[in-house]
Amino acid sequence: MSRSPLVADLRSDTLTRPTAGMRAAMAEAEVGDDVYGEDPSVNALEAEMAALLGKEAALFVPTGTMGNQICVRLLVPPAGELLCDADAHIVTYENGGAAQHGSVQTRTLVSARGLLDPDAVAAQVRPEGWGTVVTSAVAVEHTHNRGGGAVYPLETLRRLRAVTTERGAALHCDGARIFNAHVASGVPLATYGELFDAMSVCLSKGLGAPVGSVVLAGAEAIARGRVLRHRLGGAMRQAGIIAAAGRYAIAHHIERLAEDHRRAKELATAIADKAPGTVDPARVETNIVLIDTTGSGHDATSLTAAAAEEGVLVGVVAPRQVRLVTHLDVDDEGCARAAEVLSRLLAG
Ligand SMILES: *Cc1c(COP(=O)(O)O)cnc(C)c1O
Repeated sequence: MSRSPLVADLRSDTLTRPTAGMRAAMAEAEVGDDVYGEDPSVNALEAEMAALLGKEAALFVPTGTMGNQICVRLLVPPAGELLCDADAHIVTYENGGAAQHGSVQTRTLVSARGLLDPDAVAAQVRPEGWGTVVTSAVAVEHTHNRGGGAVYPLETLRRLRAVTTERGAALHCDGARIFNAHVASGVPLATYGELFDAMSVCLSKGLGAPVGSVVLAGAEAIARGRVLRHRLGGAMRQAGIIAAAGRYAIAHHIERLAEDHRRAKELATAIADKAPGTVDPARVETNIVLIDTTGSGHDATSLTAAAAEEGVLVGVVAPRQVRLVTHLDVDDEGCARAAEVLSRLLAG
């Protein structure tokens, strides 16, 4: 990947490896067959997550993509409609799963930084009785990945809840990075939880677990979700081995996300100092930094290749946009050196 020794791998917060403490927890996990409902570690994780997010029940799933797919199918009948922003993970990175698995029609709104505007949603949600496709659910992504880790203001989420309730639509949260949102905003996780009919949250992003996501909803919906998970091939056996990593992550790795946020802000500030106009540090709310290569003499692909030559790995998200993500496996020194390399390349 890179010619030089690795300085920092900022491509994604999915790249973390389990820590020694997490591996010990996995090695010691009590397990059973989760398809029989007999894995104590999975059962404990599901109970802990439901309590944390203030939902009735939870379901452990292998990936956030499966989590979203299950939630979409819980909330939208075949040939029904899901409304979301045009850059949402559900319509960008899930390979058409909503269409293939759920026969769900998606309709998208172009939104600043991926955050849906409640007025725009109100104008587009189609209730029953209009002779149109009914909008069964609206999906928000919190924080927003392609929106640069943007955090919804709580007031905006409350207005989205009011609009959807008024129109008879459900509200889903792709909360792959809900823990980042919680740490950045200070809003309690359960305050987020009570706003949504269904949520999917990742343990394998900033929290640092190797595998796993959790679906949260009412008890009846989770019972139906369990069947959908099995049908998708996601019913696992001694899954407590990986659930234990998730339990360890929620016990030890939530509050430390503030460090990732501080490092992302420092990275952005250092780059903006030397290469003005390529990044706006004020936009960095969590662990994601988006760099605009316009005017730098690089496009996203050439910048990524040049940085990799110097041991700094970053990701392409658009022809002129590069993404940096801070996480458990990058430290202050790695970020400082990455900032040096990237600002030199961008300042040309
Ligand atoms: C990572 C991510 C997911 C789920 O990804 P998996 O790789 O399937 O676990 C869903 N939504 C968002 C916004 C994500 O960033």
